[in-house]
Amino acid sequence: MSISDAMAKIQPVRLGPDSRFTFECHKGVSCFTQCCRGINIILTPYDIIRLKNRLELDSEQFLAIYTKLELLEKTDLPVVTLKLLDDERNSCPFVRDEGCIIYSDRPSSCRYYPMGVGSLAHKEGADDKDFYFFVNEPHCKGFEEKKEWTVLDWRVDQGVDVHDEINAEWTDLLVRKRSFPSHIRLTEKSKRMFFMASYNIDQFRRFVFDSSFFKRYPAPDEVVEKIRNDEVELLKFGLAWIKSTLFDPSRAGAGDPRNL
Ligand code: SF4
Ligand code: SF4
Repeated sequence: MSISDAMAKIQPVRLGPDSRFTFECHKGVSCFTQCCRGINIILTPYDIIRLKNRLELDSEQFLAIYTKLELLEKTDLPVVTLKLLDDERNSCPFVRDEGCIIYSDRPSSCRYYPMGVGSLAHKEGADDKDFYFFVNEPHCKGFEEKKEWTVLDWRVDQGVDVHDEINAEWTDLLVRKRSFPSHIRLTEKSKRMFFMASYNIDQFRRFVFDSSFFKRYPAPDEVVEKIRNDEVELLKFGLAWIKSTLFDPSRAGAGDPRNL
């Protein structure tokens, strides 16, 4: 299903954290694993870390084997999507008859499903809060089950609260880039830096530790030690660095070629 097909199926109902719904997904539902085929899954930076570690690959190998590169139309920023199998149903590479074989490390959008998350933070005057909606796909029978949730409970149960917190700077960049004046365009080099810091954590580690990076961007010793030993901290550091070097509108060079 294309992104526009998926958008067409979205119910125009804005949900907040306290909105209630009934839903359950389990092996007994007649639609079990149908939502794992013909889908478009954008992978977040933390999704990639979880998946490449689960599959015992480095981030470069994971990107080459399991992902496709796309440019987000509204932001002109690179995103990576999960490459589906070339079978008759365009299945996710991780789905089997018995379910998802990497379930505990599944991507954020699989955790959210059947819900999606949106933001109006790029619109002037709109509040900064995220909102949620149901992806209303007719094959999904989970809504006929009786288990009750609030959106907040669902997010905690599925672990998306943790994913969202780690990905927060990346999400913010994607959302806020939409509000950049249209004449400001990122250079190819800037986009490559965004790609590396966001998706290719092993290359970013080499970029930081095997170069003169800290001479140009000094950081306290405790920060250096923390990011050396903790991949998630390195990711958060990289996203904050990208934000401050490439996207800070108060810097004259935002969107210009930068001597990185
Ligand atoms: S990663 Fe798992 S849950 Fe997500 S689409 Fe693939 S099989 Fe389904
Ligand atoms: S379609 Fe809905 S109920 Fe069926 S397996 Fe997917 S999430 Fe579960």
